[in-house]
Amino acid sequence: TAKSSKTGKNIAVLEIDEASLSRICDYIQPSLFVITNIFRDQMDRFGEIYTTYNMILDAIRKVPTATVLLNGDSPLFYKPTIPNPIEYFGFDSEKGPAQLAHYNTEGILCPDCQGILKYEHNTYANLGAYICEGCGCKRPDLDYRLTKLVELTNNRSRFVIDGQEYGIQIGGLYNIYNALAAVAIARFLGADSQLIKQGFDKSRAVFGRQETFHIGDKECTLVLIKNPVGATQALEMINLAPYPFSLSVLLNANYADGIDTSWIWDADFEQITDMDIPEINAGGVRHSEIARRLRVTGYPAEKITETSNLEQVLKTIENQDCKHAYILATYTAMLEFRELLA
Ligand SMILES: [Zn+2]
Repeated sequence: TAKSSKTGKNIAVLEIDEASLSRICDYIQPSLFVITNIFRDQMDRFGEIYTTYNMILDAIRKVPTATVLLNGDSPLFYKPTIPNPIEYFGFDSEKGPAQLAHYNTEGILCPDCQGILKYEHNTYANLGAYICEGCGCKRPDLDYRLTKLVELTNNRSRFVIDGQEYGIQIGGLYNIYNALAAVAIARFLGADSQLIKQGFDKSRAVFGRQETFHIGDKECTLVLIKNPVGATQALEMINLAPYPFSLSVLLNANYADGIDTSWIWDADFEQITDMDIPEINAGGVRHSEIARRLRVTGYPAEKITETSNLEQVLKTIENQDCKHAYILATYTAMLEFRELLA
């Protein structure tokens, strides 16, 4: 989006597919690159996380004058061999004794000696204040620091970054990382904290990222899921809801969703057994796969309905007893569902 800044300069913020960055850098010279995170996602298209990261670094090397802003909490981004100036953002709160990340975490090898990293604070997945007890390698010093998490609910959060408190009207720890990246970018461009706060106040959930709407008298929230880490984070977020809700999980496997759905087995759906969910609707082209995944968690099979027909899912939500509904959907299922609401 191109927007005039106070100085009259136009700033374009481009979200670029990892595979396209190199080609784009043949035509434009960015002043800043931002990498928030890399997790396994559509491996059939992009390959492993290290492959993806190297594609991005190759592109960045084409513009050596550009500053590179990296998530310092990701071990993947430890001091890359690029000529560019590098700055880091990350969480710098509540450190404790060094511990291993969850056993199902990827990307936790020490960047120097390939040993298994430990974490003095593990925010989620492989992110946090990592340290290698083998060689002493640890997270780089942070230039933009989140020092305190004040509040985290299913639909908002407040936190302190470099002495300033900010709030966003969207839940999930992963969104705080996005906000932290946004603050770092804004500060890099010279915006003051007042202006940044106004920006957060104005921003609303968009296009399947915790979009809310009504189906009949039901208050619904639509959340896009597409990979194990993202889905696990979405589940952790809805786990914070202080009320019972119906859950719909819509799984498609078209090209834009990733045709390989095996990732659902790496997402921590087991969490649903801790939640107050009276009914579950499994939907989408691959409804039987997601229904099976949900049954394996131990959630009672008789409370799960399944159908490929999303219009049927919509009707079911409308007729269920729960006042609140969460709908987790893969990309094309989300588009299809939104069409029905229009
Ligand atoms: Zn090491």
